[in-house]
Parts: sequence; structure tokens; C-alpha cells
Amino acid sequence: MAQGLRKHRHCYYEVNSKYYYDNHRSCMVRNTHYECMICGHEYHEVSELSQGPPKEKSKSSVLEKNKNRHRHC
Ligand SMILES: [Zn+2]
Repeated sequence: MAQGLRKHRHCYYEVNSKYYYDNHRSCMVRNTHYECMICGHEYHEVSELSQGPPKEKSKSSVLEKNKNRHRHC
């Protein structure tokens, strides 16, 4: 599996993510597609979405300011 690339730590950036219902887990899951910006190696992360109670109206909207970017560097 020679890739002709210098040894590096994959540096993933988020390409896209999709949500779908996983019948096996019986819950919604989020499949995030990452790609290494150096060699293009792909990586999929599947995380279950907790089916908590419907969103309450937050008292402070400060909590909403959550960066949507995930980096694995
Ligand atoms: Zn890489």
C-alpha cells in the first residue's frame, strides 16, 4: 500500500455529513464524511443521535453558538 507520500498524520476535514435512520440501531445516525487534506484518505464517522426530548426553547441563545466544524488534526 505504498502511497508515495511522506509519513504523516492524517489531517481530516469535514466534507459533508448526512443524517439518516439506521434500522439496525433503531435511531437516527449522523454519518460524517472526512477526508485527509494531505493524501485524501477517507474516513466515515457514524454517531448515533440521542433521541432526547424535543428541543426546549433555550433560555439563552448563547449555547446555540456551537461551531459546526470538526477537525481531526
Ligand atoms: Zn493522510
